[in-house]
Amino acid sequence: MTQHPTIATRVTKEVVGIYQPGSTHMVGDGFPVRNLFPSNDLDGAVDPFLMLDYAGPQYFSPTDHPRGVGEHPHRGFETVTIVYEGVVAHRDSAGNAGVIGPGDVQWMTAASGVVHEEFHEKEFAKRGGTLHAIQLWVNLPRASKMSAPRYQTILNADIPAIDLDGGGELRVIAGSFQGQKGPAHTFTPIQLYDLQLKAGAPASLLFPDGHNTSIFVLQGSISVNGSSEAREAELIVCRRNGSQVAVEARKDSRLLIMSGEPIDEPIARYGPFVMNTKAELVQAVQDYQAGKMGHLS
Ligand code: MN
Repeated sequence: MTQHPTIATRVTKEVVGIYQPGSTHMVGDGFPVRNLFPSNDLDGAVDPFLMLDYAGPQYFSPTDHPRGVGEHPHRGFETVTIVYEGVVAHRDSAGNAGVIGPGDVQWMTAASGVVHEEFHEKEFAKRGGTLHAIQLWVNLPRASKMSAPRYQTILNADIPAIDLDGGGELRVIAGSFQGQKGPAHTFTPIQLYDLQLKAGAPASLLFPDGHNTSIFVLQGSISVNGSSEAREAELIVCRRNGSQVAVEARKDSRLLIMSGEPIDEPIARYGPFVMNTKAELVQAVQDYQAGKMGHLS
């Protein structure tokens, strides 16, 4: 037998698991969420992502009193809110505020700490309508956990949309795809895509070897790497090793593709705080109670 020369075949990122929401709860009175992680104990497999709450889709009747979640703190990570339907308003103690609607993304870096509120936007609440959104928490490495808070409003129009040969559309929120760069500034290498595929359409996705990659199905049904099938509200987690993920839509589908370089540091969580050690969590609670994360004016 002769040894073949090395062929640049791409190693498939195998599917290691498919998960359903591990818990269902209300965040305040405005966000009925199904949680995919941390409820499924996926920390190492989804690192640098810490939490995925899938809100709605749910209809809310008209009201003069917008529903949502009032003043609360965060430290040590970023909250990323992606709106599919409805309108969400945000305000924080760093002086940032924003309103995001369908297709828009809010990327809030809590880092050393902010206090904020998240509500249905006033006019949307008055009209009533369907709220459909995702909130993702993105971890920060130790060196950046105490950096200054930052706020990015990323509007639909700022997000490059790449046509997939008529089979669908891939929107690049962070990272890049086929040379198109997403607008989000991130602390660690992250690829975040909003992918819509028509029934029967394939998409071949490439990620750096060693990154954690997962796919959340908001709508429809897909197969991954020719076999594993996932349906609405399910999360497909791929292994770190390898680079290629082949997706095919069984029905018209909408997916959130999350991939990133693992931070691989200890994770200590306490409610809205995510640090590396318990002592840092105690400090976070003390700093919040002492007003060091500020207040809403
Ligand atoms: Mn929050």
